[in-house]
Amino acid sequence: MKITILYDNTVLKSNLIPDWGFSCLIEIMNRNILFDTGANGSILLENMKKLGIDPMSIHDVFISHPHFDHVGGFSAFLNKNNNVKIYMPGSMRSIVNSKEVIFVDEPAKLHENVFSTGELDNFEQSMAIGTDKGLVIITGCSHPAMEKIFRAVLPFGSIYGLIGGLHGFEEYDLLKDLGLICPCHCTLHIEEIKYLYPEKYVEGGAGRIIEVK
Ligand SMILES: [Zn+2]
Ligand SMILES: [Zn+2]
Repeated sequence: MKITILYDNTVLKSNLIPDWGFSCLIEIMNRNILFDTGANGSILLENMKKLGIDPMSIHDVFISHPHFDHVGGFSAFLNKNNNVKIYMPGSMRSIVNSKEVIFVDEPAKLHENVFSTGELDNFEQSMAIGTDKGLVIITGCSHPAMEKIFRAVLPFGSIYGLIGGLHGFEEYDLLKDLGLICPCHCTLHIEEIKYLYPEKYVEGGAGRIIEVK
């Protein structure tokens, strides 16, 4: 399983464009999943191009929640490739011009080793990817309490990692058994997480590639 951060408030490579928002590419078992689309379609497509990712290579789009910094690039992406399967939180029910749209209300298995928490707090879904080390959770902003997110994915396995926006998350104890933490985007307390768990911490930013076998 390989995750490439495409869009983040910061960048790790100077040719990429930083902007407030989040998007990443998940490659698992020959499936390429775009998680969120950042705030601005031209920045998303530009960063994808610089990272050598062809929009036509994407099979699925997973939208975590309707905030502009996660869906802003959605239509620009669909203009490039709408031959995709889209997973959206149930409350975002609307007409989307693509091959197939699935509204996710409850925790669900989407593909082999790909799970959703389902829509939590009537607002946001997070993804969990199965690896040999356990589940790696990917969050957009983590607006629902982290405990709820963890509880929703636990039926699918134990939790190994957490990547994405953690917003105002402060229940640091919840992270003590994890092996990998990559806080990105809107995470307010990155410094605290880094200080408490230096051995688990991975710096976020567009251009970051994380591989977990
Ligand atoms: Zn956000
Ligand atoms: Zn948000």
